[in-house]
Amino acid sequence: MAIKPLIDASRIAQRVIELAHEITHDYLGKELVIVPVLKGSYVFAADLVRHIDLDLSVDFLGVRSYGDAQESSGVVEISTDLSHPIEGKHVILVEDIVDTGLTASYLNQNLITRRPASLKLASLLHKPSRTRKTVEIDYLGFTVDDVFVVGYGLDHAEKFRNLPYLAVITDEPSS
Ligand code: 5GP
Repeated sequence: MAIKPLIDASRIAQRVIELAHEITHDYLGKELVIVPVLKGSYVFAADLVRHIDLDLSVDFLGVRSYGDAQESSGVVEISTDLSHPIEGKHVILVEDIVDTGLTASYLNQNLITRRPASLKLASLLHKPSRTRKTVEIDYLGFTVDDVFVVGYGLDHAEKFRNLPYLAVITDEPSS
């Protein structure tokens, strides 16, 4: 197994700033709640919120779906719920990656029942080739091929979340 760099830290930083500026522009004067989906999106969300120039709050959602496997089971469950109601609030769900779309679609359906004023999705990455449920990504960082990505919060068996850049795991033996 080897780690191959995919997107370097400065490109990520630049894109995150662009997305934060878009969000700042779109939510002027609105009460915004940023909801990072744990654990994969915590680094992205931490960088993103620091460039959003608005009054906002942050609340976390924990989901269980993947285990250590590289395939989505299709079964998604909320393991840690929001700590405050979102009724009447403008909510942005923040994902690390939309792969099959099953997680984002499940969370969308769940959160919409709580009657937010609006609900949008930000995702650092999207793998369109793997779509099983189409979800609209309102704020997207990068589109990637069908590869397994780690780093910048994303893990493989809980490792690599601390890499400051995005990388791909390959089967090539490491040199
Ligand atoms: P989906 O439900 O869209 O298939 O999968 C969403 C979740 O699967 C992501 O939030 C992430 O935790 C995990 N996932 C999907 N693709 C990758 C990947 O390439 N790398 C990592 N580290 N996790 C992934």
